[in-house]
Amino acid sequence: MEKIYDVIICGAGPGGSIAAICLKRKGLSVLLIDSKDFPRDKVCGDQITPLGVQLLKELKLVDSELLKSTNEIDKVLIKGPEKAQANFQFDFLKNQSKIYIIPRLILDNHLVKNAEKSGVERHTSHIYEMEYSEDHVSIKSRTGNSTFEFKSKIVIGADGSSSTIARLSKLVPGKDRGIAIRGYIKGINLKADTLEGYFDKKWSPGYAWFFPLSKDSGNIGLGMTLKHYKKSNYKLRQLLDVFIEQPFIKSRLTSDYKVENIGTWPLNIGPPKWNQLVEDRVILVGDAASLINPFTGGGIETAIISGKLAADVIADKIKTNNFTKASLSEYARKLKKILSKEQTLSLYASKFVGLSPWIVEKLVKIGEKSDLPFIFMKYVYKGIRIKRI
Ligand SMILES: Cc1cc2nc3c(=O)[nH]c(=O)nc-3n(C[C@H](O)[C@H](O)[C@H](O)COP(=O)(O)OP(=O)(O)OC[C@H]3O[C@@H](n4cnc5c(N)ncnc54)[C@H](O)[C@@H]3O)c2cc1C
Repeated sequence: MEKIYDVIICGAGPGGSIAAICLKRKGLSVLLIDSKDFPRDKVCGDQITPLGVQLLKELKLVDSELLKSTNEIDKVLIKGPEKAQANFQFDFLKNQSKIYIIPRLILDNHLVKNAEKSGVERHTSHIYEMEYSEDHVSIKSRTGNSTFEFKSKIVIGADGSSSTIARLSKLVPGKDRGIAIRGYIKGINLKADTLEGYFDKKWSPGYAWFFPLSKDSGNIGLGMTLKHYKKSNYKLRQLLDVFIEQPFIKSRLTSDYKVENIGTWPLNIGPPKWNQLVEDRVILVGDAASLINPFTGGGIETAIISGKLAADVIADKIKTNNFTKASLSEYARKLKKILSKEQTLSLYASKFVGLSPWIVEKLVKIGEKSDLPFIFMKYVYKGIRIKRI
């Protein structure tokens, strides 16, 4: 008889791998499918918030090997669209983890290897079809000319911002989209412990960044809302060049500086429609569930939170074999309780600063003398929700 897995997970980014690890540790049979083989890159800023790091530590997924590729951050420099420039420090992080910058090439591979180590089965193929039967779901996938069929009691859609599982389940969680470009820069004078964020009317609402990996290399990028990008006269690649060409950046570059591995990717910005996260035998996590923070553009932390929560709920539902939409809605309810306050406040905060570059300039100007304008950012990074997870 053909095997029916307890869970098939489509997508082995942080959301999918964390769900796989947590499910396997609870004794379930798990198949993790990704179109790409690992290690693979994912266009990202590579920044993991202190809460994200803390969750990885609690799951015993931070080891000395991973730390070798990690740069720790506790300071931020923000430059307004005109002249204002402010610095602040995450002083509350004394007993907490700092922000980690880990290239996704390394982080995602590390999580996938941990999933395999814990007994998760893995398959490299692209999922294109899903069929419901009375007691299972059939997943069809392909690589080249080969096609495959796998069965499971439930499917987790962890397949990112253009989720096939969401589309096949007719779930539409997202309201807003963003778009961003990322590269890796070598040959620049950076402070290794400081994130840098740059505002400008050409990429408003949004920001450009350096997220350092060392004092002369790091992740460089720029992101904005898709709605505004469509109205812009520039392509993302041109905007990145405009950013680098500014005199206050250019003066920090060596003559042989390089920007490599440039890529663009969409962002599914939260808060999602909370009633669009589950269907019969289907749960969406991470970007597939549209959980990117609208203020920071970060989604690794929420992918980890939702992956872990999906695993907890599924491990519970497996006891009663009840995978109806009504039963799985418990996941959406719990996730909403954890995330909705922060996501909604972040949305309002992003809309406020996005009203005009002038507002950003004024806030940064105040920030030159006081941390007051950065309180909300500190709130988001502080991980106030940790007690409720
Ligand atoms: C430029 C940029 C910068 C960003 N910077 C940050 C940052 O600094 N910090 C942060 O926290 N977040 C950042 N984000 C957001 C972050 O990248 C995502 O929120 C995060 O990757 C979500 O993880 P995930 O596991 O949900 O999905 P993903 O990491 O996107 O993983 C999805 C996986 O599914 C696989 N897949 C897709 N479709 C299929 C299919 N049909 N069949 C099989 N496999 C499939 C893909 O190959 C992929 O491996 C950034 C995003 C962008 C675009």
